[in-house]
Amino acid sequence: MTLPTTAARPEGAPRRVSVLGATGSIGTSTLDLLARDRAGYAIEALTAFSRVEDLIATARRLKPAIAVIGDPGLYRALRDGLAGTGIEAAAGREALIAAAERPVDWAIGGIVGAAGLEPTLAAARNAKVLALANKECLVCAGAIFKAELARCSTALVPVDSEHSAIFQVLAGERPERVERLILTASGGPFRTFSRAEMTDVTPRQAVNHPRWSMGAKISIDSATMMNKGLEVIEAYHLFDVAPERIDVVIHPQSVIHSMVEYCDGAVLAQLGEPDMRTPIAVALSWPDRMPTPVKRLDFGTMAALTFSTPDDARFPCLALARRALHTGGAAPTLLNAANEVAVEAFMRREIGFLDIPELVRRVLDGLDAPAPATIADVLAIDAEARSRALAEIAGLARSVVAVAAPDSRIQ
Ligand code: NAD
Ligand code: MG
Repeated sequence: MTLPTTAARPEGAPRRVSVLGATGSIGTSTLDLLARDRAGYAIEALTAFSRVEDLIATARRLKPAIAVIGDPGLYRALRDGLAGTGIEAAAGREALIAAAERPVDWAIGGIVGAAGLEPTLAAARNAKVLALANKECLVCAGAIFKAELARCSTALVPVDSEHSAIFQVLAGERPERVERLILTASGGPFRTFSRAEMTDVTPRQAVNHPRWSMGAKISIDSATMMNKGLEVIEAYHLFDVAPERIDVVIHPQSVIHSMVEYCDGAVLAQLGEPDMRTPIAVALSWPDRMPTPVKRLDFGTMAALTFSTPDDARFPCLALARRALHTGGAAPTLLNAANEVAVEAFMRREIGFLDIPELVRRVLDGLDAPAPATIADVLAIDAEARSRALAEIAGLARSVVAVAAPDSRIQ
């Protein structure tokens, strides 16, 4: 991975930054940090998909050069909401990608899912530093994504808390001395549930993460443990470590964000409160550090830190992701797309919670494709996996959920 070696901020000048996914959980945490140093940053682009009122309010407060809404039907609302501010308004996927491509010192990829691939790649081309939260980019297009970053000499700094932890404890160490990466996982809200107890859990229960406050999709991924599977693939691409050297350990307190074991037996860990503003600040200030208002750990009152091994029988998604990584080629792209469709169907209550891994498994079993060589290949594999997953959902008709009311809090 390419590490930034110098602070990208020229003496005295504000750093130009763009925030992709500005209305989401990662986006709002990022803007909270940026808003604390208004003189230090000039915001180039803010993007969102559908929460136009949030985008307008944020743009009015932070004055980007351009605000883009992904849904073209919301263009008028955005334009009218920004009238008289001098902020450029734009809408639609092409406009969003074009805004992402504007040259900046630092950009954060906070869009959720494979929908973020093209905008994040666009940002990667013209940003000096890309802070990456959108792990699905690396899962579905890892090698192509990294090649583009290298071609453009863009530094990649991970934002995912586990990868940020590893990034921090790897600093100054020699890669060949690394024996193991140890990703911690909270275990999610159903950590202690039997499979029988998971059968009828609702989206509302699944998004209710015990330790982190996040967007709906990653919260469901945490509940199935697919999130940790995606993170194993993400770690493989970020740190060039063989899959069998990437371990996962359940650590429900989410105090240790991940660890690296070295050849001498030393294990280095990074700890902190579960607040994404810390890993975002690490990426924003790298190779320096910046102050944040994040709550500090209190070791005097801290509960015991506990660890256990993941249970593949109750949480098959982690093994499915490892299988996709081992298979290589198109498999991680298929896995990611099938999972996105399954999570959306679960949120709409069209399938049950345990159908999520089943659907992913069926798509992995049923489809094969050559390894993608271009982004167009990735998008074609992604589309094929999505239509296969939708066809499988039709076959997984569950009469019990067909009559259930949608969970209104989930969007
Ligand atoms: P979120 O749902 O809260 O926000 C997603 C953002 O993406 C929103 O601003 C939304 O408008 C935008 N978006 C959605 N679909 C889009 C589309 N088709 N085109 C353009 N923009 C679109 O999600 P989040 O929790 O902030 O997660 C964002 C990414 O960061 C995910 O990949 C997630 O895995 C990763 N991540 C999140 C956290 C966290 O704490 N939230 C932690 C680690 C990694
Ligand atoms: Mg994570």
